[in-house]
Amino acid sequence: MMGCMSTPDSSPDTQPVAASAALMERALAVTPGGVNSPVRAFRAVGGTPRFIASAAGPWLRDVDGNRYVDLVGSWGPMILGHTHPDVLAAVQGAAAHGFSFGTPSANEVALAEEIVARVEPVEQVRLVSSGTEATMSAVRLARGFTGRSAVVKFAGCYHGHVDALLAHAGSGIATFGLPDSAGVPASAAAETIVLPYNDVEALEAAFAEHGERIACLITEASPGNMGVVPPAPGFTDALRRVTREHGALLISDEVMTGFRCSASGWYGLEGPYEGGAPDLFTFGKVMGGGFPAAAFGGRADILAHLAPLGPVYQAGTLSGNPVATAAGLATLRGCTPEVYERLERTARTIADAASAALTEHDVPHTVQWAGSMFSIFFQPGPPKPVRDYDDAREQDLPAFAAFFHAMLAAGVHLPPSAFESWFVSAAHDEEAIEAVLAALPGAARAASDSRARMTR
Ligand SMILES: *Cc1c(COP(=O)(O)O)cnc(C)c1O
Repeated sequence: MMGCMSTPDSSPDTQPVAASAALMERALAVTPGGVNSPVRAFRAVGGTPRFIASAAGPWLRDVDGNRYVDLVGSWGPMILGHTHPDVLAAVQGAAAHGFSFGTPSANEVALAEEIVARVEPVEQVRLVSSGTEATMSAVRLARGFTGRSAVVKFAGCYHGHVDALLAHAGSGIATFGLPDSAGVPASAAAETIVLPYNDVEALEAAFAEHGERIACLITEASPGNMGVVPPAPGFTDALRRVTREHGALLISDEVMTGFRCSASGWYGLEGPYEGGAPDLFTFGKVMGGGFPAAAFGGRADILAHLAPLGPVYQAGTLSGNPVATAAGLATLRGCTPEVYERLERTARTIADAASAALTEHDVPHTVQWAGSMFSIFFQPGPPKPVRDYDDAREQDLPAFAAFFHAMLAAGVHLPPSAFESWFVSAAHDEEAIEAVLAALPGAARAASDSRARMTR
């Protein structure tokens, strides 16, 4: 979603893409940019976005008949692979009983129970339809609960397209946010304080100055939307300590990491925390199994402030949708300990091979991890750890674009941006992994050639 590069003059497409290109032309006439979510437009890498016709297990097939190993996984939800038989059966079974009732129904209770059972500090959840709704509602609840209005977030953390959270602002010092998007009034972002990630000093300074106005701090449990940038040891503890000292709530956004990094998300890897758990959590992606289901939850005494019990209003026509909750429930139940072990093994195999190929071709890079989530930062100079958004932005974007297109040409669909995690699924079998490994040396060479062109 970040980092825009102009489309190269010569098309990087080397496969037949006539059918995708024709659909894109139709789409451009009726949809802004031809897409319903910006990253899908391939603006950061150029070329024709592939229109996918069908998907099974680790494979995508586009409308021109090209087949790809999928390392996007719908940006996380497809943890079991595409059209998993158990999830498909659950969806078909639920759909046969009705699509939406606008009344309470059994699946939503079962899904809430599943989430509460998995994430120890989460006593209650409210279901919604997208991660954006989850974070928006969690922030409203935090403001309603504390009676305060300011919100702290970190540069490079994405929490959906919530007005108040679309501020990245500058780096280094605490700045009141300037909106990152047109259409967000300065007043909506003016209550947002943006801090550099992994910087305890900046955190303490911001709370020392504005503490009594701060309703909450929202953070990605382990950031994955600037590439994978895990919290430094002790950083999450510092967030807990400082928010508590100033009476602010801590919101852990696990929309991406939830039920992906472990059975209980990033919390399962890093928690429990010495100073106590986050007050609120947000979930999405995996918990919907590819359907629109998300949630926010946490301490029951805070959730009691939500309508119909309390004064904080929140609602949704399709919230707890019976088909979406059936998909989510079947997906979570399919996420066994063996699945998580397998995800980590697969991710290691792919990341190690990618790193070896890049090293072989003298392409400087750093691999960073959060459970089975990883990303490869293509760096312009000697490799170094990426600790915050400023570090993440120091990437060699043309080298990534060359790498991306060489992988795509060889039948591997990576996220079309250098600022994303790669996602594997439990369905990535030997054939799929071999196809990725076979593609890597050529892609590393393409990245290396791109660097040579740039310095010529
Ligand atoms: C994807 C994501 C969101 C937004 O979820 P949507 O379902 O796209 O609205 C929020 N927070 C994080 C951490 C995410 O990765």
